[in-house]
Amino acid sequence: MTDTSSTDRSFLHGHSEGGVWDKAGAPTGQDAWRPLDLGQGVYALEVDGGNPGGTIGMLVGDESSVLIDNGLEKSAAVTVAATEKLAGGPIDYLISTHLHADHVGCNATYAAAGTTIISHVDTRRLLSVDDTFDKAGLPVLTFSDRATIHLNGLTLELIPFANAHTLSDTIVHFVEANIIHTGDLFFNKIYPFMDLDNGGNIDGFIAAQRQIIDMANDDTVIIAGHGPIGNKAEMQTAVDLLLAIKATMKPLIEQGMSMEDVLQENPLSVFEHLAWFHITTERMTKIIYHLLTEG
Ligand SMILES: [Zn+2]
Repeated sequence: MTDTSSTDRSFLHGHSEGGVWDKAGAPTGQDAWRPLDLGQGVYALEVDGGNPGGTIGMLVGDESSVLIDNGLEKSAAVTVAATEKLAGGPIDYLISTHLHADHVGCNATYAAAGTTIISHVDTRRLLSVDDTFDKAGLPVLTFSDRATIHLNGLTLELIPFANAHTLSDTIVHFVEANIIHTGDLFFNKIYPFMDLDNGGNIDGFIAAQRQIIDMANDDTVIIAGHGPIGNKAEMQTAVDLLLAIKATMKPLIEQGMSMEDVLQENPLSVFEHLAWFHITTERMTKIIYHLLTEG
């Protein structure tokens, strides 16, 4: 068996040509998802442009195939094609890390194809009351603490975190392969997002990231939900960013500044280079203001 811990993984940080996208940002070709071979049958499917959804994880091998998240519903056709091509057939298991539409958008499509969907019990509960979610894609197998899956000679530990990115987030630790798929508990080199309406919390997010860092060593590949695939040092940088944002905002709030005054002062302007898609510096400021005043 390949010892991936000693493999040169510097290629992970390279960039290749992006896929082809229509005007709505939906992928139009199977190559939109770029599979990265991380070793021992574990893959990450990334994109260089457009917005098909969060980074997908996969395990392929002789016994079974496992998918972690599956992007937006609008991308279903190319996502199913790309993942089935990699797996060599229909997907056996799907792990849904959390409720967001850019991670569970194709759940119903996979369920219809016979895939067994797994999630934390709280993620299923949130999905079951989400009017935008197709209930045909609800997880059929849930766990309330940790769960362990043994497939293709590998151990997959499913570890839940409460009140971090959302109320219920799960990471998947490929133990022997030394790879962690973080769901959305890691935004690499971009602003993180905490979902105010669904139990997101800045201190919970920091605590979750610190636990993941404790599980990792310098060779661990840490798959970010958004942004490039990272490592332990980059995850520490993400923790430091949140601590810096908190330290910048807290004194202003303690002075009694209103949201409008804080937005006017724009204290997070030094982090402007981390803005992406819909997470602008203004939106980040509003989210942190709410989290620090309502907590
Ligand atoms: Zn999310």
